Amino acid sequence: MLDTLIKNAVVIPMTQRNLVLRDCSVGIRDGKIAYIGSETPEANEVIDAAGRTVMPGLINAHAHTAMCVMRGYADDYSLRSWLFDKVFPVEARLDERAIVAGAVLGIAEMLRTGTISFSDMYFCQPAVAKAAERIGIKANLCNAVIALGDDYDFEKDRAVIETRKLLEEYGSTGPIRADVAIHAEYTSSPAVWKRVHEWAKDHGVITHIHLSETRAEHEEAKARRGMSAAAAFEANGVFDTPVLAAHGVWLDREDMDILASHGASVAHCPVSNMKLGSGMANVRAMTDAGVNVCLGTDGVCSNNSLDLFEEIKLSALLAKAEALDPTALPAYDALKMATVNGAAAQGRADETGRIALGLDADIIMLDTNAPHLRPSYDPIATAVYSAHGSDVCMTMVRGRILYRDGEWLTLDIEKALREVEEYAVPIVLGK
Ligand SMILES: [Zn+2]
Repeated sequence: MLDTLIKNAVVIPMTQRNLVLRDCSVGIRDGKIAYIGSETPEANEVIDAAGRTVMPGLINAHAHTAMCVMRGYADDYSLRSWLFDKVFPVEARLDERAIVAGAVLGIAEMLRTGTISFSDMYFCQPAVAKAAERIGIKANLCNAVIALGDDYDFEKDRAVIETRKLLEEYGSTGPIRADVAIHAEYTSSPAVWKRVHEWAKDHGVITHIHLSETRAEHEEAKARRGMSAAAAFEANGVFDTPVLAAHGVWLDREDMDILASHGASVAHCPVSNMKLGSGMANVRAMTDAGVNVCLGTDGVCSNNSLDLFEEIKLSALLAKAEALDPTALPAYDALKMATVNGAAAQGRADETGRIALGLDADIIMLDTNAPHLRPSYDPIATAVYSAHGSDVCMTMVRGRILYRDGEWLTLDIEKALREVEEYAVPIVLGK
């Protein structure tokens, strides 16, 4: 007997190029996908998905979720003044309670818009991990080492203390995982990279970094180190274990080869790159070189939402615009970045990202009973080019429904909103 059966669905399994299954049932037992086919086997709970599209839940491969408390706080600044004049001063004021409030708000938004797992770089991650665990979303969490100034002391760094705690409590498996992180080439040094890499090696975890986000950053790294940031990280062993690099907007061909030869992933963040005027990452060149390209939202301060459907559509459109070629990055490939490739980037390729037997039931449903989603000759094109995150009517993680038809089943949304408005916003405003 199945626990849950989703029947009469149009299913985009993401197991085979452009495959769509119609009048299909998906059965779930013990949190795993246990049946896919045209029959309707018995189940404790039956969900009629007529007029709905069932697909794998999305994976946000680069986020700073708690920054949701700063949504709309600092728009239209240059990256440097945005970061140093606006964001860092607020971050210095945020306490753990405010950060958890922001993270919970972001998790609520992600569940609402079809994200089932996220890779997150921020502070107070042991507390965020508890919140994510309680709500039921999957996450790879890290606190990035930033080693600026001559008096930097690795042992006293809050990021180091938190990373050790995360590694100890969560490790490299399970729904909530620890990653380790180097914020970026320009905010740390090779001595620190080596320490972080040791963790990655010892604990079998992913190293999350920011890489060549802006042209200035890319050129300054070359001037400073006589080589690109990617080459400098490679020379110090960082790529010898799995790396998830955010942005990669200004990577040279040689950098792409470095990433590809080490099996690294790039989290493409098109909205953030456009909003901060950073440029357009060359997804086609990265993919051709063999880099695993996935999608991220970055923080909402540079986005201003966590709706991955925007990134999916924009990644396809930008690739076409850049190549002057409408066949560049077809809909299936854009969707694959947000599912299959994201799962690989998180070390979860055998666990999620597809609707296949034995994988976790990390499933979302789009309500296609809407004017902007009809007619639907090709459900993949509909999902990529016409759908918004707000069309998601159900988000299930490991067989458990976390969001359905306007309701969050594992979090108190009113309380979450109140906590942000009444506790976190005054801190952001410095009141
Ligand atoms: Zn970032």
